[in-house]
Amino acid sequence: MTRKQSLYLGITKGLDYHEMVFASKKHQWPDADKLMVDLFVEFAKYITKYEKEMLLALGLPDIKKVRAGEDVEGKYVVPDNAQRQLQEIMREWLGKIYSERSSELFNKYMVKQFNVGRKHFVEKMREGKSPDYEDEYLYQVVQNGGKRISAELSLKHINEIMAHIQEMAISGKNPMQIGRWLHQATGEGRSWWWNRIARSESSLALDAAFESSMEKYQIPFEEWVCESSACLICSQFCGGVWQRGEGPEVVSDTHPNCLCLRIPRLIYEDKTREPWTRPSPYDMPYTPIELDALR
Ligand SMILES: [Zn+2]
Repeated sequence: MTRKQSLYLGITKGLDYHEMVFASKKHQWPDADKLMVDLFVEFAKYITKYEKEMLLALGLPDIKKVRAGEDVEGKYVVPDNAQRQLQEIMREWLGKIYSERSSELFNKYMVKQFNVGRKHFVEKMREGKSPDYEDEYLYQVVQNGGKRISAELSLKHINEIMAHIQEMAISGKNPMQIGRWLHQATGEGRSWWWNRIARSESSLALDAAFESSMEKYQIPFEEWVCESSACLICSQFCGGVWQRGEGPEVVSDTHPNCLCLRIPRLIYEDKTREPWTRPSPYDMPYTPIELDALR
C-alpha cells in the first residue's frame, strides 16, 4: 500500500489511522518540535503511572505481565469498589495534566509553544517585541484543549470502561484478556492518542501566536506553509496566500497533528485565493470523490 493510499484509507475510516500516521511527525522548527516531544513524554509518564494503578484497583495482573501478555488461568471477577477507585484515579490523572486555574502540565506547555510561535512571528517581522503571556487567543486554545483532555479523562469514560469490563467478566474472560484490553483502551497502548494531543494542541498554540499577531501588526496577507510530507487535505493549501483572516486554519480546517504553519506576508502581488469557507472536516468529512480530486 502506498502512503497516499494508506492516508486515504485512514481518512475514510474516520481519521484514527490517519492520526496515528501523523503522530510521530517532526515539526519544521526544532524548538517547537522539542516542546511537542517533551509534552508527550510528560503525558506518557502519567499513562504508565495511572495504568498501573488501574490494573491494581481492578485486581488485574501487573503492567509487566500485561505488556508481555503472558497467559493467566481462571475467570475474572470485578472487585466491589472498582468503579469508585477508577473514578478517583481518573480524577487525579486529569488534575496532573490540566487545570482551569493553575499552570499544570498542559497549560504550561501551551504557553511555551505560544511563545515559540510569537518569537518566530516577531523575527519574521524583524521587530524586537517580547512575547506576552496574557493573550486572548492563547487563552482560548488552552481552554478548548483542556476541555478536549477533560472529556477523555472523564467520569463518563470510566463508566464506559466499567461497562465493558463487566461484560467481559460475564462472558468468562480471564484476567489477562481484561488487562490487555485496558492496556489498549486507556493505557500505554493508547499512547499514540496522547502524542496526537501533544502535537495537535502544540500546533494550535503556535497558530494562536500567529492569529493574535496578525491583527496587532496589521499584516495584510497570510501564507500556508506545508509540513514536509503534507497529506491530501493540506496539499491543496500549500503555498496559498489569502487576505488576512480569510484562509483556512491549522488543525481545525485540516486534521489532528497537522504540522503546517501559517506565516505572515507583507507583500503579495499575485491574486490571493478566495476566502476559505468549507466547514471543518470534523463537521463534514471529505468524500472519496473530493479526496480523489485533491491528488
Ligand atoms: Zn497540515
